[in-house]
Amino acid sequence: MNQAFQLYRLQQVDSQLDQAHARLREIDSILKNDVAIREAEEEVKKTTQDLDGAKKELRKAEENTKNQRQKIKNTDDQLYGGKVRNPKELQDLQKESEALGRYLGVLEERQLEAMMVVEDLTQTFENAEKKLQEVRAHQIEQHAALLGERRQITQQAKQWLAERQAVSSPISETNIAHYDHLRKRRAGIAVAKVTEKSCSACGTELSTAHFQMALVSKDLHHCESCGRILYAG
Ligand SMILES: [Zn+2]
Repeated sequence: MNQAFQLYRLQQVDSQLDQAHARLREIDSILKNDVAIREAEEEVKKTTQDLDGAKKELRKAEENTKNQRQKIKNTDDQLYGGKVRNPKELQDLQKESEALGRYLGVLEERQLEAMMVVEDLTQTFENAEKKLQEVRAHQIEQHAALLGERRQITQQAKQWLAERQAVSSPISETNIAHYDHLRKRRAGIAVAKVTEKSCSACGTELSTAHFQMALVSKDLHHCESCGRILYAG
């Protein structure tokens, strides 16, 4: 087996390992990311505050109408109690009672509006809570799937590491060092297969002489354009 082929096998295993590690990093980042949950929680918190505020307003409005009714009752008690007999005083009480009654209408209207606001915000709050539960349920499901995938990839990566050991053992130390050096400089790909007389990594076409050399020679040959080791296979 020539060194180019062995290096090519090593490259294949390393590419798979690179892919596995990239996916593991991606999975870890998704597992750590809880933006959706935090946003949903924030929404529940905000709608709770809004609803509490609206309920407070409603209680105030209810208190106001209750007080107003009491004022009307007090005035009417005086008006019809029989103690006040002076016609001018009675007339004033009558007017006061009417004015209080008119303002009661305004206060009742405000109470009704406050009630509607509470109803609306109760709905908004319930929707926010439901959404939070959905987001949580989705995350539990998603995390379970990702953890499963994570286990599987880790398991697979162990096998590839064992394979890497086997594949790299017959390669000379010099070539391994050369390979590592190229991998660092060429985005993880140190060995390129030659397909249709071209470097599969950069697409550059090989001269016929160069291709023949790469095909038969035991020495390593490099792509003249990207510098990668060529495996003509
Ligand atoms: Zn190339």
